[in-house]
Amino acid sequence: MLTEKQREQLKEVLEGEQQRLLRNAQDGLAFSMNRERNIGRDSIDESMEEELFSTELRLRDREKFLLNKIKSALERLSEGTIDECESCGESIGFKRLLARPVTTLCIDCKEEAEKEEASLVHERPGGAGLRDDLGSGSSEDLAPGTPEE
Ligand SMILES: [Zn+2]
Repeated sequence: MLTEKQREQLKEVLEGEQQRLLRNAQDGLAFSMNRERNIGRDSIDESMEEELFSTELRLRDREKFLLNKIKSALERLSEGTIDECESCGESIGFKRLLARPVTTLCIDCKEEAEKEEASLVHERPGGAGLRDDLGSGSSEDLAPGTPEE
């Protein structure tokens, strides 16, 4: 069970990330509108522009995906179930939650899922980035100095 303080801390992390993603989404929108205004001009390099545009769409999909994850994590937080592993029902350690606040699996189930996932994602470039991890953290370990509570 999480303490009030721990819940507050998770909420801050989640809401901070939510804000960051929403800002990114707005930047993406400005980019698209800018692009529409440029239609009709002589295009310097259309294929380059197409590529930029599709990259931006892909990014926005990822943001949408993460925003949904954050939204449901906030819901679980308010229901008091954020630290319950959805697979085995064991509690998820607070340190793990702080590092991966959108996770729904305890470390054991996560490792199981990753093994399964590893055999499924290979045909989807970049698919491995769409896991329950926020940002680009490369490991489950916490950075040194992360507070205990
Ligand atoms: Zn579990």
